Amino acid sequence: MKLFIIVTIAIFLCERSSLVSCSIGDRSMIYRDCLNRFVRENCTNNGVLFKSNAQYKQDFWSKVLQWSCTDECRYQCMWFTVDVFHKNGDDTPKFYGKWPFIRMFGMQEPASAFASVLNLLANAYMFKQLKELRITKANLRPYVIFWKTFAMVCMNGWVWSTIFHMRDTDFTEFMDYACALSMVMMLLVAAIVRVFYSRSKVMMLGALSLPVFYFVMHVRYLYSGFINYDYNMKVNVFFGVLGSVIWLVLSWHQWTARRQYAWRMIAFTVLSGAALSLELFDFPPRHGVWDAHALWHLSTAPLPMLFYSYVIADLRYLASSELDKFAFKMT
Ligand SMILES: [Zn+2]
Repeated sequence: MKLFIIVTIAIFLCERSSLVSCSIGDRSMIYRDCLNRFVRENCTNNGVLFKSNAQYKQDFWSKVLQWSCTDECRYQCMWFTVDVFHKNGDDTPKFYGKWPFIRMFGMQEPASAFASVLNLLANAYMFKQLKELRITKANLRPYVIFWKTFAMVCMNGWVWSTIFHMRDTDFTEFMDYACALSMVMMLLVAAIVRVFYSRSKVMMLGALSLPVFYFVMHVRYLYSGFINYDYNMKVNVFFGVLGSVIWLVLSWHQWTARRQYAWRMIAFTVLSGAALSLELFDFPPRHGVWDAHALWHLSTAPLPMLFYSYVIADLRYLASSELDKFAFKMT
């Protein structure tokens, strides 16, 4: 039943993820006329710089985050158009596939950036817990190093998520998408490593080769700049669901084997799926900043506590058990 719900969410997300570059807002004549006039009156150098006699004065943070003159004109005309729509009794329109967000301290999507920082802090805190963990069993050390690497990959992902939501450019978009996929892939890789650790290293490496190869190919594809958002979302959802299902089956098996700590991973997987369902909603940002995507990032912020506390408890279990087969040596 849980799998059915996750797959249903995945399919729904795939269907709605095909972003389009044009939206009602930027197609409207109100917006186009405003933009033409603003750019003509204020910009020079192909819209990058402000004229010396420009009416518009850019604030300090927007200068720091390199907003061009055309970007500023788009922002001003976006809110002008939203006002006109509201006065005419129409709903808030989207612009270039996105809802209008109030910029704060030069940040494009401040709530998503703030929530990304919370996720980063949660991962950093649990990384510290992992570092302080004392495991004396020599054959477990590579596994502990793996989990520290896992936490570093996640911290890197949230750093780029923060940067992307602060300032959406081709490069920050590429880094956000590539690093988001790296987190999804690491969850799957971790599941494969955990399942095969005491069984077969050959099978483990064989199972790992597919996601690693696909990740490299997909990052190359993202770097090309011609991103099909629908396809990218499907790739993320496919590997995300696959990793989650393996973790769910594994932790359920541990739970039935009376390992009490396994509830944390079960709860993490179910809550992650529930949090993802927030993306099903698509509404104009509340208070100008909190849209469904920002709320999704906010809702995932506490989840690393559950996840890593499972990892630490599982490491302690492995350290205390007589699983001497646990070895990552390639010999
Ligand atoms: Zn995001």
